[in-house]
Amino acid sequence: MRLYISGLNSDSNPSPGVGVARSLRAGYPNARLTGVDFSVRSSGLHWTDFDDIWLNRPWTELDLDSFVEQVADRIARGGFWIPGLDLEARLLAAKLGRSPGLIGPSASAMAAVAKPCTEVASRLQVRSPETLPLAASTADQQRFCRFHGWRVWLKGPYYEARRVGSWGQFQALRDSLAETWSTERLHLQEDVIGHEESIAFAAVAGHIVGMCRMVKRVVTQEGKTWAGRVTPVPDSIAQRLRDLVADIEWTGGAELEFIRSTSQELWLLEWNPRFPAWIHGATIAGKNIPALLVARATGQPMIMFPPEAEEFVRVVLEVPCRKGYALPPLAEPTPSSRMSSAGKHPSGMPLLARRLLSATVERVHEEPIPVSKSLTADLEAFCVDGGSTPFSALLSGTTQQRWRRSAHAAAIHSGSQLDVRLAYSIKTNPDVRLLALARREGLMAEAISRTEVALAMDRGFAPADIILNGPGKHWPTEASHPNSLFALFSDSVEELEKLGQARTLPAEYVGIRLRLPGVESRFGVRLDPYSCFMRVVEAVASLPQSVRFAAHFHLASSTIGVKLWWQVLETALSWAKTLEGATGRSVECLDVGGGWFPDDWEENFLPAMGETVHRISQALSGVRTLIVEPGKALSQPAAALVVSVLEAREAGDKRELVVDGSVAELPEAAAYPHRVMHRAEDGTWAFLRRGSGRILGRLCMENDILRSNVNVPSGVQVGDRLVFCDAGAYDASMSYSFGKG
Ligand SMILES: *Cc1c(COP(=O)(O)O)cnc(C)c1O
Repeated sequence: MRLYISGLNSDSNPSPGVGVARSLRAGYPNARLTGVDFSVRSSGLHWTDFDDIWLNRPWTELDLDSFVEQVADRIARGGFWIPGLDLEARLLAAKLGRSPGLIGPSASAMAAVAKPCTEVASRLQVRSPETLPLAASTADQQRFCRFHGWRVWLKGPYYEARRVGSWGQFQALRDSLAETWSTERLHLQEDVIGHEESIAFAAVAGHIVGMCRMVKRVVTQEGKTWAGRVTPVPDSIAQRLRDLVADIEWTGGAELEFIRSTSQELWLLEWNPRFPAWIHGATIAGKNIPALLVARATGQPMIMFPPEAEEFVRVVLEVPCRKGYALPPLAEPTPSSRMSSAGKHPSGMPLLARRLLSATVERVHEEPIPVSKSLTADLEAFCVDGGSTPFSALLSGTTQQRWRRSAHAAAIHSGSQLDVRLAYSIKTNPDVRLLALARREGLMAEAISRTEVALAMDRGFAPADIILNGPGKHWPTEASHPNSLFALFSDSVEELEKLGQARTLPAEYVGIRLRLPGVESRFGVRLDPYSCFMRVVEAVASLPQSVRFAAHFHLASSTIGVKLWWQVLETALSWAKTLEGATGRSVECLDVGGGWFPDDWEENFLPAMGETVHRISQALSGVRTLIVEPGKALSQPAAALVVSVLEAREAGDKRELVVDGSVAELPEAAAYPHRVMHRAEDGTWAFLRRGSGRILGRLCMENDILRSNVNVPSGVQVGDRLVFCDAGAYDASMSYSFGKG
């Protein structure tokens, strides 16, 4: 019996060849085992269970057709082939079809379980993480990441998964993964917290010949198995897997990777079309799955061994190098050889991906984004052709429409029991035109200093419509503020104690900003440890009876994630309830908010407003006023930055523009992708779509990049104006003067 086993790399990120060979040697001491690989660096070439080695040229140089022909020839002469590399399995399945000597899955079976394997998960009745293909619009990608608080993975089409943490990281990872795998057909996947476990099995023509479950006991820094415990697959999932495997007529080895969450739910991450590298661990536990596979495929009886142990560990071994396979020296130690990931892995999968897909990066395209009538009207209103650039322009019509929708939602959810008020954060953008609009729409003003209180009053806000917050609210000390503000929230217990001793109180409601245990923030009154909690309780209890008590929580949902924000709201409600119990005072005003991204505010918060109001009055029955702070959700879309094109540069399919704006006028350029508009020759406005171009700022600074991953149409010429939308929040308030002489 002659068996070909491929995928011999056996470093800390191993392929299965060595494990498969050890198991087959145990089951078939007299079989002839040929190790197949494509890199002299694969350490398993030297493993003694291989009788001989077939070392091919690396994937970049290999003549694929001739390779497939030689495989077919070996199979025709009675050999059996067990593919150990994902893409090699795909290549052989595509070119050889169903051939009895190829003990691997067919192309259609692999397609049925391709990533993301949401359908497979539902058939197995396990959960699957939410995913989003990168073909989705840039706005949807952002939304997905924000919802999950940036705890997401960017995954390659076959393998490789990288953790994303921010918009900047996402952009860098997307470019590097697209380059590695020659495709933008990547996807985002939410992170699931839990422990990893797998199911490995082998089947012939849809009939499972052996399977086991393996729970990782020790993992390497890359998350690879270093020790594990092998047990039978639970009956329920085993039966569903048998049915599924029968339906797709799977042949060959496979591994299903799962996460078991803290609530003991199983989440399916992926289905690999080959044995896992730890497969000999199953043999140690008495389930020699590779030998069972060969027995079924060849009809030859195997030797069975009783289990040695349920658990296995890996050790590092030195083995002699095989004669004739001298080791190459290390690559030249240049900085770039350390940085490029493509081709580094001895399995060479990225190299093969390039050959199989295409030489150039396959791009996914984005649908045009519609432009609203009001936005067009706003753009026409400020003279886009006159005035010197760069300048910031208010989009008044669009802003008014947006704010009305929010004000309307607050109004319809206000009742006799509970009044819902929106508050405008002055610091996010103190533009007096926006303050005037806020007042017209009936919003409150939310200040963080005495100067901001003064500004609000100067613009016509009554003290009873002003909320004072933050750690520096009494600055500047020489200024004063009226004693009749609506609410004031202490940022520390020290501040609260001082208020308790004051003769007059500055506001109708005095409250605390909650610093919730377990949620990272520098703001608010600490509630744990217990000594802190007791001090807060005493300070609240000693507030004069004439003052009404309020509670506030503010965390940026655009950073912590929309999903988590709602959980934290529940936490805040339960702490407020606890405080009520301990102090004997009820919370009569609740102020919640913060850092909403405009899309999330409109699509997630506003639709849930009714339910939220209901939930809050259920949890805290004394609440009379609910203040909601949308923060940048109001101001971000309210202004745009207008710039002019200074130069257009061509580089292959990449077109770049240099404009007269810069990060000094758009300091949030790297935080999120600003939508960019251009007026075509026919006078219509359109958003620039996704592409491979960039828009660079005028400053001689490496980080002065205003947009990347954007398509710069050839119609955009030197002297044209571009409008950067979404520049009305911190882009406006935190812009600075730089590089202007
Ligand atoms: C800054 C601030 C806001 C507004 O938050 P954004 O991050 O601008 O959305 C709301 N409330 C308080 C107390 C703030 O300090």
